[in-house]
Amino acid sequence: MGGFRSDGTWRNWAGNQVARPARVERPRTEEEVSALVRRAAAEGRRVRVVGAGHSFTAIAVTDDVLVTLDDLAAVVDIDRETGLVRVQAGIRLTALNPLLHAAGLAMPNLGDIAYQSVAGAISTSTHGTGLGFRSIADGVVGLRVVTGDGFVLACDGGQNADLLHVARVGLGALGIVTEVTLRCVPAFNLRAVEEVLPVDEVLDHFDQFAEATDHTEFFWMPHTGRALLKRNTRTTEAPPPPRNRRHALRRRWKRFKNKELMENAVFGALNHLGRLRPAMVPRFNGLVAGEGRAEYLTTSYEVFASPRRVRFYEMEYAVPREHGLEAFRRVQEVVDGLGRPISFPVEFRILGGDDIPLSTASGRDTAYIAVHVFRGTRYEDYFRGVEAVMDDYGGRPHWGKLHFQSAATLADRYPGWEAFRSARARLDPDGRFSNDYLDRVLGPVS
Ligand SMILES: Cc1cc2nc3c(=O)[nH]c(=O)nc-3n(C[C@H](O)[C@H](O)[C@H](O)COP(=O)(O)OP(=O)(O)OC[C@H]3O[C@@H](n4cnc5c(N)ncnc54)[C@H](O)[C@@H]3O)c2cc1C
Repeated sequence: MGGFRSDGTWRNWAGNQVARPARVERPRTEEEVSALVRRAAAEGRRVRVVGAGHSFTAIAVTDDVLVTLDDLAAVVDIDRETGLVRVQAGIRLTALNPLLHAAGLAMPNLGDIAYQSVAGAISTSTHGTGLGFRSIADGVVGLRVVTGDGFVLACDGGQNADLLHVARVGLGALGIVTEVTLRCVPAFNLRAVEEVLPVDEVLDHFDQFAEATDHTEFFWMPHTGRALLKRNTRTTEAPPPPRNRRHALRRRWKRFKNKELMENAVFGALNHLGRLRPAMVPRFNGLVAGEGRAEYLTTSYEVFASPRRVRFYEMEYAVPREHGLEAFRRVQEVVDGLGRPISFPVEFRILGGDDIPLSTASGRDTAYIAVHVFRGTRYEDYFRGVEAVMDDYGGRPHWGKLHFQSAATLADRYPGWEAFRSARARLDPDGRFSNDYLDRVLGPVS
């Protein structure tokens, strides 16, 4: 569904954003990236790069020059000693994770999926969960960026360190990232415990769970009073070998049943049915929420990231950690007051704060609350209701997920807003990398 089409259009994963670019560029080298930016500048055209198209907003959309780095997607260097890994910016996390694993390394933390490109993930402040951990961008120690005049800038701890600091979460507004150096960690496994519990019990004890476990999150299934609590603990312990072939098959079947059948095939079918028969949604949600407890141990990236085949629209907000649970309870009231059933869960995660100017966790430990609806269904009243709650806590929207904010409402929510604006004015004074979405959320280049 998402991606480039033979009619010259491009669509994002969710299918809610369409671009009709005047030209699509597919550079194979950094020199070609510089050349295409210079050519666009000479023609007075704007330029956007698209990664895997997994943003729900129009952040990557343009009707001018759309660039894909699918041919700039290789691993440049893996240093097993230091854990520093240099990759070309277009590489997808799905491709990178097994290569890191084979080298005895891993990304320190990941989000729910691994389809994103590395540059796309860092550019929007993509994150997972865990108080002792930070966003993917926080692990970036070096970048190469092609700026608005086609010049290549190398940024690391030694050169242009001030720009590296800002450009880790750049929204694609500072230039085209061609290469990223990531600080990785020794490979590890995760012991996953997934449990369906009364949502009030999860809320009452969430802080204890989160303090005691490396990576904690939960999904509340609206209209059921139940939540799926996920707790992942880091370990170097190996998965116990299967007792026999039957045991091995049973393990594989259980995982397939949970990840493919329940979270994708059955969930998708129930969402289609729910669209036809909305009154049935609460009952379907009960089936999806399920019950019981599962425990398993496997490679970190296989636990962090799951397949997501049912398409949806999403909004996610970052609020100070200490207000997270209160904000979540208010979101439950919004859902209950909508007057129509919601068939997708509400997700709650937490993360350590960082110092990146436009990171959603900048300057504060953060709670993330995400709301979703099935693709093609109405969301505006729901998302606006949730956004009004988030405004009360200085909430920061995920840059790649739907929201209704503008530069005027966002500027005060980021301590590093001015640092970002001045880096943008320096690297892209003509707004070569801007588009309608950036004009809205960042304002004009100044
Ligand atoms: C099913 C699903 C699950 C998700 N789960 C999570 C999650 O768990 N946690 C989370 O935080 N987010 C999550 N997201 C959001 C997703 O991580 C972000 O939207 C991310 O930016 C997508 O990466 P991408 O490669 O698709 O980037 P795109 O959406 O293609 O682009 C995003 C931005 O990055 C810019 N960009 C891309 N490449 C470059 C480059 N080389 N140089 C400069 N700018 C560049 C683009 O211009 C654009 O501004 C999810 C999204 C989906 C659809």
